[in-house]
Amino acid sequence: MELQDFPKAIQPHLLPVPRGELEYTCLACRRREAIDQLLYTCPDCGGVLLIENRDDRFIQARSGAHWRRLFDYRRMLTEPALQGIFRYQELVAPVMPLKAVLYLGEGHTPLIQANPALIRRIGLPFYFKNEGQNPSASFKDRGMACALSYLQYLLQAKKQKNILAVCASTGDTSASAALYAAYLGDEVRSAVLLPQGKVTPQQLSQPLGSGATVIEIPGVFDDCMKIVEYLSEHYPVALLNSKNAWRILGQETYAFEVAQALDYQCDRLALLVPIGNAGNITAILSGFLKLARYGLIASLPKIVGVQSRHANPVYQYYLESAPRKRVFKPVAVRPSVAQAAMIGNPVSMPRVIQLVEQYNEWSGRRNVFIVEVKEQEIMDHMLLANRNGHIACTQGGESLAGLVQALKEKKISRRETAVLAATAHALKFSGFQDMYFHNSFPPGFAVRPKRSLQNAPRAAGTGIPPRANDPAYPRFVAQTAGQVAKLLKL
Ligand SMILES: *Cc1c(COP(=O)(O)O)cnc(C)c1O
Ligand SMILES: [Zn+2]
Repeated sequence: MELQDFPKAIQPHLLPVPRGELEYTCLACRRREAIDQLLYTCPDCGGVLLIENRDDRFIQARSGAHWRRLFDYRRMLTEPALQGIFRYQELVAPVMPLKAVLYLGEGHTPLIQANPALIRRIGLPFYFKNEGQNPSASFKDRGMACALSYLQYLLQAKKQKNILAVCASTGDTSASAALYAAYLGDEVRSAVLLPQGKVTPQQLSQPLGSGATVIEIPGVFDDCMKIVEYLSEHYPVALLNSKNAWRILGQETYAFEVAQALDYQCDRLALLVPIGNAGNITAILSGFLKLARYGLIASLPKIVGVQSRHANPVYQYYLESAPRKRVFKPVAVRPSVAQAAMIGNPVSMPRVIQLVEQYNEWSGRRNVFIVEVKEQEIMDHMLLANRNGHIACTQGGESLAGLVQALKEKKISRRETAVLAATAHALKFSGFQDMYFHNSFPPGFAVRPKRSLQNAPRAAGTGIPPRANDPAYPRFVAQTAGQVAKLLKL
């Protein structure tokens, strides 16, 4: 729909103009820094940063109803820069001019309602939000679109040139970073550090295909992260991990979309999200807090973080119920099918700690919970979901297993509705499905397949098929069809 066809009152607002005053803010000492530089930690105390808008008067000046209406109308607008996460430009990065926005098809992923059979079985209505339908097939594209738009902004403003973008990854960050960097061409090269043997072949193929320099490191993700942090402190590189606060801003759109898709009705709503480096849950907490502060939603939904028992530092931290007695201890990870979340020392932990406090305070009650699930439960629930028409990856299975666990622990009731993050596409993690089907999990995973969830191809037809013009061909077709019919019990 063209601009002049929208209601007169909405027309002046449809195309956002750069506004506001974003600043990096240290969560530990509150030091503020200008955003015209690449910065990942506080120059004073080394604390992690978030980006805050110091001048949000233009947002405050209008009602929540105005913003809801504007974002709804923007759905009908054909402006390319507003097709993705920047539909919410004012809430994401209001300083960003539209010409700097990089859009590769990210965001606006579908919310798919579970079928009646699965809802009956689990015990409450729920949806999967299919983040695997992003361009690099995981949710990482949201934050990456924002971080790379910011780099493009710096390039256009001549504040940077010839950027080398680096990241450590459990697989999906590197796939996403390499894709977006490739689109920007020669001015942004990308290099990714991966833990050797701990990303799936599909995830490895992605940055290779995008032309990134791929470097494999012995160890796990946490080791790669330390090396990348060292690089970002000693060399002129752009860090693309979620330590980069621009990633968090883009990722907040997950919360905005869930709210918008449910017409901003967030009471009796619970979101389940797997936690690895804790960037995603940080952004979801921060995103919903923004919506509440600016009056777009009346109440905050419940947030339930899910961790595997094999990589559970956040769960461990919140086991202690007295906030003052809590101490964060990194854990040594064990093999996990939720490999993209196999992280023992999440970079965003200080962000989570602060945001959980603010979130509960705004909610007027405890409204953030963490549950722990077993590897077996993750696999069983992934397969169960996919047998009911979903495309959940292992981390999506973790979300569903977490829902079941949260119900069991009465952290969620049957009167609520749940939205589960299916964080990547099932195809990225098909190797774990293969292990399940072939009962070939290494002992470290402790996963035993359930017969009812296994599957394997069957064979029909014998010998070499004759050519289609051979007189024997009709016989081959009839015989094979007979065998197929038998297999199908027709
Ligand atoms: C990165 C990732 C996670 C973990 O998200 P964090 O933001 O690191 O907590 C979960 N699932 C998938 C598929 C991922 O790629
Ligand atoms: Zn600081």
